[in-house]
Parts: sequence; C-alpha cells; structure tokens
Amino acid sequence: MNNNYPHMLAPLDLGFTTLKNRVLMGSMHTGLEEERGGYDKLAAFFAERAKGGVGLIVTGGIAPNYAGRVHAFASQLSFPWQVKHHRKITEAVHAADGKICMQILHAGRYAYHPISVAPSKIKAPINPFKPFALSSRGINKTIKDYANAARLAQKAGYDGVEVMGSEGYLLNQFLCHRTNKRSDKYGGNIENRARLALEVVKSIRAAVGKEFIIIFRLSMLDLVEGGNSWDEVVQLAKWLEQAGVTIINTGIGWHEARVPTIATSVPRAAFAQITERLRKEVTVPLVATNRINTPEIAEQVLASDQADMVSMARPFLADPHFVAKAANGQREQINVCIGCNQGCLDHTFKLKRATCLVNPMACYETELRLDPVAQPKAVAVVGAGPAGMAAACYAAERGHKVTLFESRDELGGQFNLAAQIPGKEEFHETLAYFRHRLGDLAVEVKLGSHASVSDLAGFDARIIATGVKPRTPPINGIERDNVVTYQQVLRKEVTVGPRVALIGAGGIGFDMAEYLSEAHDSATLDRSKWLAQWGIDIHYQEGAGLSERDPSAFDSAREIHLLQRKTTKPGKDLGKTTGWIHRAVLSDRGVNFVTGVSYEKIDEHGLHIRQGETTSVLEVDTVVLCAGQESNRDLVAELEAQQLSFSLIGGAELAAELDAKRAIRQAAEAAMAL
Ligand code: FAD
Ligand code: NAP
Ligand code: SF4
Repeated sequence: MNNNYPHMLAPLDLGFTTLKNRVLMGSMHTGLEEERGGYDKLAAFFAERAKGGVGLIVTGGIAPNYAGRVHAFASQLSFPWQVKHHRKITEAVHAADGKICMQILHAGRYAYHPISVAPSKIKAPINPFKPFALSSRGINKTIKDYANAARLAQKAGYDGVEVMGSEGYLLNQFLCHRTNKRSDKYGGNIENRARLALEVVKSIRAAVGKEFIIIFRLSMLDLVEGGNSWDEVVQLAKWLEQAGVTIINTGIGWHEARVPTIATSVPRAAFAQITERLRKEVTVPLVATNRINTPEIAEQVLASDQADMVSMARPFLADPHFVAKAANGQREQINVCIGCNQGCLDHTFKLKRATCLVNPMACYETELRLDPVAQPKAVAVVGAGPAGMAAACYAAERGHKVTLFESRDELGGQFNLAAQIPGKEEFHETLAYFRHRLGDLAVEVKLGSHASVSDLAGFDARIIATGVKPRTPPINGIERDNVVTYQQVLRKEVTVGPRVALIGAGGIGFDMAEYLSEAHDSATLDRSKWLAQWGIDIHYQEGAGLSERDPSAFDSAREIHLLQRKTTKPGKDLGKTTGWIHRAVLSDRGVNFVTGVSYEKIDEHGLHIRQGETTSVLEVDTVVLCAGQESNRDLVAELEAQQLSFSLIGGAELAAELDAKRAIRQAAEAAMAL
C-alpha cells in the first residue's frame, strides 16, 4: 500500500479485471476526434495520461448513430472500417500500461443539427434545433446502434464502454418527465421512462459478454424542473445494477441547468455527498465527480466512504502525471486544474480543439514539445507574471540556464490580483505550481529587480514578458482622489466607499464588481453556504434537488454601477461557459449595468455620464478604473536601439484580448523557439 493517498491509490477489483487505483479520468471531448490525423494525436494524448498512472480513462463521447452526434461532423462509431482509428488509441494506452473505455454519447435534443431526436418533440432551451420524437422503430434501432457501437469498441481493444446517461443527453431525456411526454411503454412512470436506458445496457451486455466494463453515467442530481426525485434515482441505480453495469458514474446537472456545476467558483467536491448517499443503496462501485482537483480532495472523498472511485477530467488536461506525482510524494509538482474552463470547455463549445490554460501542451502533445537542447543558452526572462514564469520554466525544462527578473517582491504579476477575487481562489494553485517549478528547475529568480537593458546585454536570448499597465482614460477629473485603479483596490492601497462606479465592464470590471459587492466570506470556501445560495438541496426535499435560494445570495456590500460605452450586452465577451454565472451573480446583488455611456467628467458629486441626449450624475464615493490595459514595453525601444534580439510574449506583446491562457501558450512557443 502506498503511504501517500492510500485510498486513492488502492486497486479496485472488478472481478474480471483490476484497476490499479481509484482514479478515473472522466470523459472530455477534445476536438481531435474530428480533426484530420486526430486519432494519432489522441493516441499520444491518452498514452501520456496512461503513463501518468491514472487507473481508468474514459474517452470523449462517440455517437452510436448519426442522429446522436453532438454536431453534424462529430465522431460516431457504427462501421467496422472505423475500428482501426480507435485501435491507435487502445494500443497506445495499453502499451503505457493503462486501461481505457469508450464513452457512447447520444446527444438527443442537445444535438446541434436539424435531424436530432428525443423522447418528445420539445426543443432544448440551449439549442435552436427542435428534435423529432423517436418512433418505437427508431427506439429499437437506437438500442441496436448502442450495442453495435459497444461491440465495435470491444473489437477496437477498449476495456469497456461508458454509457452517457446524464447531463441532459438522450437517455437522461427519456428518464425525466421534463422531456419525456410519451404515452407508450417508454413514457409515463419511472419504470417506463427507465426502459430505454435499461434496454441499452442489457443489449450492450449481451453484445460484449461478461468480461467487459460497462460504466453508466447516471444523473444523480438533475437540477432542472421536471427532473427525477431521489427515490427515482435510487430505483434507477438498482435497476442498472441488475441490468449488468460494472460501475456507476455520477452526473450532476443538465447542461441547461441554471446552477453552476463545475466552474471555478463551485466548491471542491461540492456534490460528493450525493454519491455517498447512493452508496448505501447499491453494491456496484460508484464514482464521485465534479470539482475534485487535488489528491487531498480525492483522498478525502474516498477515505470518508463517499465513493469507490473519483472521476477527474480537466485535472488530466492540467497535468497528465497527476497520479504518478501524487504517488511519488511530489504533490507540489502537480499543475492543478483551476476550473476556469477557458482552455477546455470554452474551446469545445466554440468547436475549437480543447487545451488547458495552465498546460498549453494538453492536446498538443505531438506539436508543442519542450525537447532538450544540445547547446544550452543563457536566457533572461523579464517579468514574472504568468507569461514570464511559464517561459522561464519551459526554457529551463529544455536545459537552458535561465534568469528571471521581476520588479515587484513577489512572483505572479496580475494573476495575484485575479486570485483575490472571491470564487477565484483556485488561481493560487497556479501561482504555487510555478513557484515550485522555478525552484525545482534551478531558475535564478531576481525579485525586486527592475531589469534594464544593461542587465540583459550579456545573455544569449531574452524573453520580454513585462505585461500590462491599466489604461487611464482621458476623462475630466480623472486625477481626483476619489478615482482609483483596480490594481490599487486589489492591492488594498486605497479605501473604497459604499457607492461605486466602475468604468469598464470587461473581465476585470465584472471581477471588481464581484469583489466589491461581496457581503460575506467567499461561498466557494463554504460548501453548505454555496449550495444554499444556489438553491441546491442535496437532501432532495423537493424534486430534482432544487429549492428556494438562501437570501444571502442577494446581499450586496455596496451600491455598484458597472459601465461601458458599447451598447452590447454587458459581459458578452466573458467565457462561453462561465459568463452567465458572473452576470447572474451581479444581477442577484442588484448591480446596475449601464451601457452606451460616454463619460463627461468626475467631480465632488460623482461621475457625470451621457447616454444619447440625456446626461445624469451617478452619485458615487469612488470611481474605479477597469478600462482595459496597455502593453508595458518600456524596454523594447532600447533593446532595438542596442540591436539586442528578444521575443515579446503575453501582455507585453499585445494587451488586447489578453488572458493568462494566451500568455502561457506564448511562453511555451517562445521556449520552443529558443
Ligand atoms: P503580467 O501579469 O502583467 O506580468 C508582468 C510582470 O512583469 C509584472 O509582475 C511586472 O511587475 C513585471 N515587470 C514589468 N516590467 C519589468 C521590468 N522591467 N523588470 C522586471 N519585471 C518587470 N486571466 C485569465 O486568463 N483568466 C481570468 O480569470 C483572469 N482574471 C483576472 C482578474 C483580475 C482581477 C485581473 C487583474 C486579471 C485577470 N486575468 C485573468 C488576466 C491575467 O492575470 C493576465 O492576462 C496575465 O497576468 C498577463 O500575464 P503577463 O505575464 O503577460 O503580464
Ligand atoms: P477588457 O475585457 O478589454 O475590458 C475593458 C473595458 O474597458 C471594456 O468594458 C471597455 O468597454 C472599457 N474601455 C476600453 N477603453 C476605454 C476607454 N478609453 N475609456 C473608457 N472605457 C474603456 O479588459 P479587462 O477587463 O481589463 O480585462 C483584461 C483581460 O483580462 C481580458 O482580455 C480578459 O480576457 C482577462 N480577464 C478574463 C477574465 C475571465 O473571467 N476569463 C476575468 C478578468 C480578466 P467600452 O469600450 O465599451 O467602454
Ligand atoms: Fe482546468 Fe482551466 Fe485547464 Fe480547463 S483550462 S483544464 S478548467 S485549468
């Protein structure tokens, strides 16, 4: 038994096969499934995770037929000629001593194409396409298609399949009244609504025999009106066990639920109690999911008997070697997933290849490589924000001798400010990771050292990562004492009054509004409070786990006006999967969104604005500037004058649309080019 995380690292005997530990890498669509040559890249992607010691991998969702595809060009496994692609994956994973299941995902009414099908002809609120109701012939054909996909998956060498029965996809749609209005044997009472899921599982079991893993991802908490009750969830789990599933995985919330389930502001392991409760009802191994992102949390869930396994998906984008590092006592070397969704889900929903903000190599294993160099160089990196810290680590990883200059007394740049925002506490993990990594790689770190060109002349290569400075817009009265920058506020250099106007409603304006309106301690750090604030009743006193929201969700510490000159919806450019959460939180707290303004002046009365022909005064105590940034390129002209070569990355290269994802990705590219 391994003394580090003994529960997490304990093997799990499934009777006919044994998993080497209790960690399941949850299903993630990477986008490689549909790319030309994508299966070779997927093979490298999964093999790296298998090498990193994970117990069982589940692939992204593969449709069993055309109607079930998530979008028109999404992957499907229905024909023998497709098997060879999947074999690349299974062979690579098995060669790395791993195990892998293929997820079969029928999107039902979530399919983003015109020939989608569902139990009933009811459009999903998040999809413009209205589905056709499946006929009984269509149902029989769908069951056969599932079995066929599983049979082909077995032929391709997978160790099993996962049947996606949660998150509001087809089987979940059949399971719930919300979407199932049928009057035949597949609709009505729970026995009928469960029929399709059970027939699918039984037909797969008949097709693949006894010694093949079947995981069923069961929605244990639908979080939508018309979702199932706890008694129905328990009943379903018991029937699934009898139908022959090997493992039940947990699904939390439909995609259309208006409750966050995996964002960074969701507390760690927020939903593990649900799996724990089901554990008392069935004997089949259960997997807990959602916002489990460190070995401590995984260990805690398992040691307290909340589940037999833990599923982590995004943490394996952030660090393929999560399990091996935990086992080897290298916890501080784990690059922890911060739940931002910026590189992964936000990409997937825009049909872009997934990657990871903190690990740009994810899904680019064959393209973005930090190979060792034959001739190490002396490399200077200027600025220790996300771009500079990452560039220094990546260059050192290749074998270069790196010196990192930072003006301030701490590493991290603006990311330190981001981590101050309630709900973004996870960002501290990235700062800690890079801090450790710099030490491990023996990078010479010079804090409190504002680099000048003379400091840089003696190096073979220079990477300039000097970041950004807040923009000061030319508004009459901007120099007044009651006008401050977001940096001054977050560094606690100024006092902010009870009535505030925020100039600029971009990512930082939204974050400042959350920071300044927060009336309590961050609920992200208090699971019960967070659940209550979002109206999640894990005790299921009412159906589907929804209840009245705790009134503290609507408290605000200040009167806040959030302004922008554009007339577009505020927060339009925030993350695709998280923007709605920020808008909802600020609306709940009564923040006044003001669009289409021009700023006239600031005086002792407050902020004078114009909207069309109308002028008005926002009577505020403090005006906070969140009006974007400008690149900090103080060194550039001088370096050029002295004909010293350099590469520019992060905010120093381009301030517009800067985020840490781009900053870190550019760091990897600059290190690769050295
Ligand atoms: P910076 O972080 O600006 O770092 C530049 C560093 O260079 C600084 O530490 C500076 O002191 C140093 N420096 C400058 N000149 C010199 C010199 N001559 N010598 C030595 N050192 C020098 N991004 C996201 O992706 N997701 C988010 O959710 C997110 N939230 C945010 C929330 C807030 C409140 C803020 C302020 C930012 C947020 N960001 C977020 C943005 C993110 O922090 C930036 O995109 C990122 O920090 C930019 O990285 P950088 O390394 O290019 O620049
Ligand atoms: P931003 O998103 O570009 O927003 C800048 C805001 O300032 C806009 O609302 C803009 O709106 C306003 N503005 C620009 N020029 C102005 C001027 N001259 N006078 C008055 N207002 C002006 O930049 P940011 O909020 O500073 O964020 C910086 C980066 O950090 C972003 O690109 C973002 O990716 C990243 N970030 C991300 C998150 C996240 O959750 N993913 C959170 C925080 C920050 P108008 O032009 O309409 O007035
Ligand atoms: Fe996690 Fe963010 Fe990376 Fe996605 S992009 S895996 S949420 S750290």
